This record gives sequence, structure tokens and C-alpha cells, in this order.
Amino acid sequence: QVRVRFAPSPTGPLHIGGVRTALFNYLFAKKNNGTFILRIEDTDQNRYVPGAEQYIKDALNWCNIPYDEGPDQEGSFGPYRQSERKDLYKQYADRLLENGKAYYAFDTPDSLDQLRKEHEANKKTFIYNWHNRNELDNSLSLSAEEVHDKLASGVPYVIRFKSPQDETLHLKDEIRGDIKIDTNTLDDKILFKSDGMPTYHLANIVDDHLMEITHVIRGEEWLPSLALHFMLYQALEWEAPVFAHLPLILKPVGKGKLSKRDGDKLGFPVFPLQWNDPKTNDLSAGYREDGYLPEAVVNMLAFLGWNPGTEQELFSLDELIQQFDLSRVNKAGAKFDPEKTKWFQQQHLQRLDNSELVGAFKTILEHKKITTDAPIETVVEAVKERAVFVNDLWELSSYFFIPPTQYDEKATKKAWKEDTADLMHELTRILSDIDDFTQDNVSQIVKAWITGKEIGFGKIMMPLRVALVGSLQGADLFLIASIIGKKQTIYRIESAIE
Ligand code: GLU
Repeated sequence: QVRVRFAPSPTGPLHIGGVRTALFNYLFAKKNNGTFILRIEDTDQNRYVPGAEQYIKDALNWCNIPYDEGPDQEGSFGPYRQSERKDLYKQYADRLLENGKAYYAFDTPDSLDQLRKEHEANKKTFIYNWHNRNELDNSLSLSAEEVHDKLASGVPYVIRFKSPQDETLHLKDEIRGDIKIDTNTLDDKILFKSDGMPTYHLANIVDDHLMEITHVIRGEEWLPSLALHFMLYQALEWEAPVFAHLPLILKPVGKGKLSKRDGDKLGFPVFPLQWNDPKTNDLSAGYREDGYLPEAVVNMLAFLGWNPGTEQELFSLDELIQQFDLSRVNKAGAKFDPEKTKWFQQQHLQRLDNSELVGAFKTILEHKKITTDAPIETVVEAVKERAVFVNDLWELSSYFFIPPTQYDEKATKKAWKEDTADLMHELTRILSDIDDFTQDNVSQIVKAWITGKEIGFGKIMMPLRVALVGSLQGADLFLIASIIGKKQTIYRIESAIE
């Protein structure tokens, strides 16, 4: 039974990297008929931001990747918020103390800071491990009695992991393969603090074990923690899950990791949903607010580090589930491409049911206070190909509902010649004689007239287009004429002549 989890800390909005991690976990779970769990890692009270958990849930729901177990969706492994599990962690820290894999340390933040600075002054980094732990203020350098006294009198402590000396760890990652780590480069990470709270490392391992997580799929930024996590599983005599670290998401231009600032600079949203930061009250728009469809965002995210090994780029969520495979996740960083994101959006818009688009477009027309007899479905069908967002439909089709308010200068120059006014006058006479003002009939009659005059189609069609649309763009001219009707067609031609 595959069990995977997405384990965000509720410290602010989810950015696309976080949602990508959630998505890959979801796809892997569903592909393998497994369970997708949401666990809120809120042990660090200083970084806790109210509202962030709700935002995370909203983002997952919006993307249509719901969790099977998690807060408000209790399974048999809850609770799913670490703050509600806090009494559970101490016993594991104690077990590590008992079997000599961990120790108490009483160094004050100030004294450690001091040491760090001294090292920096000598161009060295200070690490707390076998090099120096016997000289520092901890249970390895103090007598049992001293330790007991300190604990009894409430001196603040932390519990540190005792990382081994002179060992080579052989780690395995599904995406990166085998990794060798020299334990002498590792520091003795803090597992537990005297405020009764575990650190991320301990809580994460304990919960993954208790929740019977089989695969840990997370961002590459956690790769440096893998050695410690691996050693913790060994020290607790637990079987470790399979690990898979997803590649970094890189800036669209230049080098380095994608950050929110890149998004601001290049005008693309980094957040999948709008986030109102309760600390600063800053509102940051997201994909949803910018009009992206969840299907498009999910498709785009899937390709940040994964590919199907074929030419296919457009995927529904179900298709992604069928094809997803960890073995097709790359280790190289994945460049984020806002233009490609727009392309996914446009493609998925085309795949929407017409009725959905029509409904959305009707709402836009209502907002604009447009009343019309025009067949909305036909209008949407005629212009949707060029639409990226639902909101584009108005700009692409407004001429079906209102006459042009201005004529594009370049188009006019190209279309309107000396004899155009006379030709347009003649055209209005032809049009006014047509009784059956349908697309096919108008097209036939006008084309026959142009052919008879032996003047070339452009001489009529271009100025006619400028008259009806205001530019040289838009749907089939005779479709436009039939929809706006005879009176309006003639009116627009006459207005253009003036
Ligand atoms: N709480 C960690 C985070 O915020 C979880 C990392 C992991 O998946 O182990 O990303």
C-alpha cells in the first residue's frame, strides 16, 4: 500500500514549487492506488502564519488534487497537525538519549554565536559535532550529576543527534541514485528543544514512521537533510521510506532558483491562489485571479521536472495519473517558463466544454450591461481559438455587439483607397436588396458581385472588415454581417465612409 504525504509548514502562501510537490505526491499516490496525506508541520510557532493552512487546503482543492487523509479529513493516523501531536515526540528523543544516539546540550544561543563569529573571523565554519562536542557545554562533557542538576534547575537545553565519526553513509534517492556522505561533514542537529517542541527533523521522521509513509517525495532543498533522516531511521531501528527529491525550479532567465521576486519582475504570478498576508496585509494575486484554469496550471507544473518520454504535452489530470512515473523525473533543474504556461492555458481553454465558455462569457456580457439577440454560442465558437483567458473573449468579439468606436490607423491606410467610398456605397445597395441575410447567402451574393467587377477581393473585403470590425482582424466577415444583421451592417459601412 503506497502512502505519501505533502507536509507543508503553514508559514505563508504556497508557491508553485510547493504545489508541484503536492501534485507529484498526488499523482504517484493515485497511479499506485495509494493514499495521499496532508500533514501540517506547524511545530515552529515563531514562523506560524494564521490563514496559511486554509490557503494550502484551498490551493489543493482548486487544483483538484484533494487529500485522502489530513486535517478535516481524518483517517486512522491522525491528528494530522503536528501541534496536535506534540506530546508524542518526546518519547522518541528520550529513546535516542537512552541508547546513546543523542545528548543534552546546554550551550546558550549567545555562546554559540560567539563561537560562530570566532570561526568566521578565521575563515572557518563552525560545526557542532565530534570535533568539538566534548569541549562544549553538554552531557558528553559534563558529569552525570552536573547534567542532572542543570535539568532539575530548569536550565534551557536542546537534545542533539550524535552524528557518527569517520563513517561513510550510503544513501539512496529514487531520482538521484546513490549518494555517499562522509559523516565528518555533518553537524549534530537539534532534535528537541526545552520548550517541549521537537524540531522539524524529529517530528518529520516520527510522523512519517507512524503514518506508515512509504515514499517521501519532496523538493531538492531537503536533500541536505537526507543523511540525518537516514541516520535517525537507523538509530530508531525503523525501516526508512523510499526518498525522491524533486529538481529545483529555476528562473525563466538567468541562473538560479525561482523566487517570488522573479514573478513580480516578469509579470507572472508565482502563487496558485490569491494570498492576503495577515502580517503585512499585502495582497498577492495568483494564477486563479489571473484567469488561469486549474487544468492548465496542473499540466504546466507536471512538466517542471517530469516528462512522459513522448511528444505529448497536453494532459488532463487523469492522463497524468496514468502516465506519471518517478523514473521519468529528472535531476536537472527545471526552468520555469511563463510563456509556456500561457500556452498551456490557451490549449486547455480550447479543450473546455463550449457550454462552460458560453456561461462564463454570458456573465462577462452581463457585467458590461450588453443585451443582445446574437447567438452567443456561435460567437464564442468563432473567436475562442485566439483566446488565452476567458476574459479575452470580450476583446476578441466585442464587434459582434457594439460598432467600432475607432478605426485602426494602419488598417485604414492599407484598406481604404481613393475609390473605396464609391465601392462601399455600391455594396450597401447590394446588401439592402438581400432578403435572406444569412452568412452563406450574403457571402455568395457579395462574392459574385466582386467577381463580376473583376477588381480583386481585397479591394472590398479589407475596407468592409475595417468598417465592421475597426481593424483587419476578426471572424469571418459574412458571419459577422449575418449576426449583426442587415441594418447594422449597412449602418457600419456608412459610418466608415464618413
Ligand atoms: N515541513 C517541510 C516543508 O515545509 C517538509 C519537508 C519534507 O517533506 O520532509 O517543506
